[in-house]
Formats: sequence, C-alpha cells, structure tokens
Amino acid sequence: MMPEGATRTRRCRDCDGFPIVAITTGRTTTDGSRHTATVACRTCDGTGTVHPAHARQVSRV
Ligand SMILES: [Zn+2]
Repeated sequence: MMPEGATRTRRCRDCDGFPIVAITTGRTTTDGSRHTATVACRTCDGTGTVHPAHARQVSRV
C-alpha cells in the first residue's frame, strides 16, 4: 500500500518536470556564440511540480 501524502506534489504536466528550458533565439551574440534564453514554465512557476490546490488558481497578475 502506498502511504497517503506520498504524491502531495505532482509533476507539472506542461513541462513534465523540466521547468527551466533554454531556447535559442536564432541570434548570435557579439562574440559569435548562439544567444540562448532561459524560460521558466509558467504553469509551475519554475518549480517542476504543482500542488493540486495551487494548480486551480493559475491567474497571476
Ligand atoms: Zn511546469
């Protein structure tokens, strides 16, 4: 039997546990390397996990 509370936090469905992703912008920096930007998942706010209760109120100003 699994103890209750073991899955208190759930993995974020949007990012699947990888909240911070680096994307290439297509531009290059002045030194010739690729310019990347890190984006945090909005759904879990960069945590990778979501509380069931917290997931309901996703509205942020
Ligand atoms: Zn997420």
